[in-house]
Amino acid sequence: MKNKTTILITVAILALLSLSVIQAYLINNTYQLKNRAFTQEADDAISDIDNIYKLDSLFDIWSEDLQNHLADYKNSRITKEEVVKRLKIKADSLDLRYNNYYRQEVKALNLGYELRHKKKIKSILIFEGLHVDTIFVSKKDNNLKLFGENFEETNAKIINVSRLFNEHEFVQRDGENITMSSFDLEVKMESLMLIKDSKSIVLRRMISLLLISVFIFLFVTSLFYYSIKSLINQKKIAAIKTDFINNITHELKTPLATLGIATKILKSEEIKNSPEAFTNTLHIVDRQNNRLQKLIDQVMTNSLSATEIVLSKEQIIDNTYFNNLIEDFKLATQHNAIVIKNDVFVPEVLLRIDTFHFTTALLNILDNAVKYGKEGTEIIIKTVLKNNDYVISISDNGLGISVKDQEYIFDKFFRVNEGNVHDVKGLGLGLYYTSQIVKTHHGSISIESQPNKGAIFTIKIPIL
Ligand code: ADP
Repeated sequence: MKNKTTILITVAILALLSLSVIQAYLINNTYQLKNRAFTQEADDAISDIDNIYKLDSLFDIWSEDLQNHLADYKNSRITKEEVVKRLKIKADSLDLRYNNYYRQEVKALNLGYELRHKKKIKSILIFEGLHVDTIFVSKKDNNLKLFGENFEETNAKIINVSRLFNEHEFVQRDGENITMSSFDLEVKMESLMLIKDSKSIVLRRMISLLLISVFIFLFVTSLFYYSIKSLINQKKIAAIKTDFINNITHELKTPLATLGIATKILKSEEIKNSPEAFTNTLHIVDRQNNRLQKLIDQVMTNSLSATEIVLSKEQIIDNTYFNNLIEDFKLATQHNAIVIKNDVFVPEVLLRIDTFHFTTALLNILDNAVKYGKEGTEIIIKTVLKNNDYVISISDNGLGISVKDQEYIFDKFFRVNEGNVHDVKGLGLGLYYTSQIVKTHHGSISIESQPNKGAIFTIKIPIL
């Protein structure tokens, strides 16, 4: 049965984990799709800007400049590096205007998000017949920005790749010789776009999906948690009930067996001749009857919950009440060689309690200290007034209770399962009843204990 539950819980946890992984995968996929759609939407929105006349004409100015520099290069007046340097200077001088135009156009689109843009040169090549001369090729550390803003390209998107190809005629001077020459020019360019905070914009667009997913996830997790918890609880209750039935059966067996024997004796012929034996047997019947009655009373009274207990409170003086209680208890345990220490708060305090129920509640703890005590039992009953609470602590040096069991110690029918169930008689109702009585007095009860080092039960009740 335990194995079955463990398997069930493991399978359920695995199912929940798989569900979470699938959900995370689907959300990630949706994010990727939405991100792509969003970038495409931005791309479409700005796709026409590059072709507007004002920007085109700036590019024309730049390309004309390029061709003139290339003519100088062909006439060996400047080096390739000088060409690139001059191109950069020209691009920079046009950039401010380009940026202003571009921004105006983007603003007019009213996109609702910030967008950055740049155009850069990928390569500049010149062809003369079969001969190719590379003027510039963009590399990782060697970029030639034409127009636009400077930004990190990791998250940027290439929105356009364009190519300029034309034939250029120029005057070739070779000493005194002046001839007309030509070359084919190829310029490859790339336009890039970067949307500011694109991640959060996409996530914002997915907000309802994210919220529903989180809600469903939390709902399924809590449902799962609740089901497992009730399964464990049910199992615990079933085990506790079985324990209770075993305990009560055990408790009933002895008096019933004794009654059976006594009845047999009373039926026998010999008893009629011995009035003394007859009286003795009757006493046995009476004692066992009382024991049975007490057992039933214990079950009936001690299993009442706080809401079912009707209190009849009276005003008492703490000193008198506790001193009497301790004296009575000492008398009852006289034969057990138990040391009972009285450490009751000295200035008198007035308390309002139901003496009958409260005494039974305290006696349950005191009885337990004896029942679960070891050799040389020492019980200390201490009371103090702390702020507005009257604090009663009952400590013993007995078997103690493990931390794991302390959680359930005040539960109905709970008994520590380690070996002593049948060694020490009990139904697991005493501490439950005590806790219910403390509750009806608007107080609290707690336990501090370590196995084999004893236990301290602390009750706090508010004073008048
Ligand atoms: P019962 O004594 O009838 O079993 P209780 O409700 O009084 O029921 O106590 C519940 C369980 O708590 C006991 O079975 C026992 O295992 C444990 N217990 C209670 N008091 C003590 C104590 N002072 N020292 C060690 N164990 C205790």
